[in-house]
Amino acid sequence: MTHVIGVDLGGTKTAAGVVSPAGEVLMSETFPTLNRAGGEAILDATAALIAGLVERAADAGISVSGVGIGSAGVIDASSGAVLSATDAIHDWAGTELVSGLSSRLSLAPSMVRAVNDVHAHALGEAWLGAAAGSSSSLMVAFGTGVGGSFVLDGSPVLGHRFVGGHVGHFASPYAAFEGSPLPCVCGGSGHVEAIASGPALYEAFLRFGGSTLDAADSRGVFALATSATDGLDGGAGAAFADSRAAALRAIEVAAAAAGQAVGGLINILDPETVVISGGLADAGELWWKPMEFALRQELLAPLVSVPVVRATLGNTAAIVGAAKLVLK
Ligand SMILES: [Zn+2]
Repeated sequence: MTHVIGVDLGGTKTAAGVVSPAGEVLMSETFPTLNRAGGEAILDATAALIAGLVERAADAGISVSGVGIGSAGVIDASSGAVLSATDAIHDWAGTELVSGLSSRLSLAPSMVRAVNDVHAHALGEAWLGAAAGSSSSLMVAFGTGVGGSFVLDGSPVLGHRFVGGHVGHFASPYAAFEGSPLPCVCGGSGHVEAIASGPALYEAFLRFGGSTLDAADSRGVFALATSATDGLDGGAGAAFADSRAAALRAIEVAAAAAGQAVGGLINILDPETVVISGGLADAGELWWKPMEFALRQELLAPLVSVPVVRATLGNTAAIVGAAKLVLK
């Protein structure tokens, strides 16, 4: 069997690798996505990246037969077009991702496949990562946004209009402040993503009285929460202690919102394995413990033993998952 190229095309960077039929990433390359240059320029750059890898593979005696792409945005997996996208990639919506790449690479359109990057990520974890061997798995990622994918018998459930997996956009009782629902990036309000994403966690820290001087982003909130308070006296010490308390509270609330949301999804889908991924899942016990506690509180009795595990493939998950699209 020949090898394929897996591509993870995100808002800030694009990574691609030569993937063996067994899912090993043999050689890979990463470059910044030309996220201000428009769809055609991104296709040119991505095709050049892929062509370079095909050449390197050929030098090593490896032939490449197809390309799988996990891309930011809502992707029509049958036509390979970008149906909609946020402005993280300017002018991405409307781009003919599959036909644009297959013509640039002189590949048959049937040998190029594309899905949304979160689905590719989940497919990678379901094939060779934390959910390997499970016939069904739910992956939810908590990072800059909140997204997910339910993989059933080796295929992500994409939905009739390819919008499936937007698990950050349903109501959360935690997504309110002083009686008003919090605004969500989708234009709605009171959604899971408005309290459980990294940026939302930082906003919660500020609402709870945290100071921008003590933490500049969600990563800073975690550093602050685990920092020592000794050595600071008087007013400065009290202000720092207030910020630190706000950090701990924001993490607790964002984690509980995340866990409750995933618990509800488990009740609906009953996946064999649940995989949690993204920057917040990697932040350690301070987030994981309240997340898992809230998740288990939410579960219906027959589901109490469902395994909930952290993603294991890291940055290669979406490359491997995208490759799987053309390997099967
Ligand atoms: Zn929303």
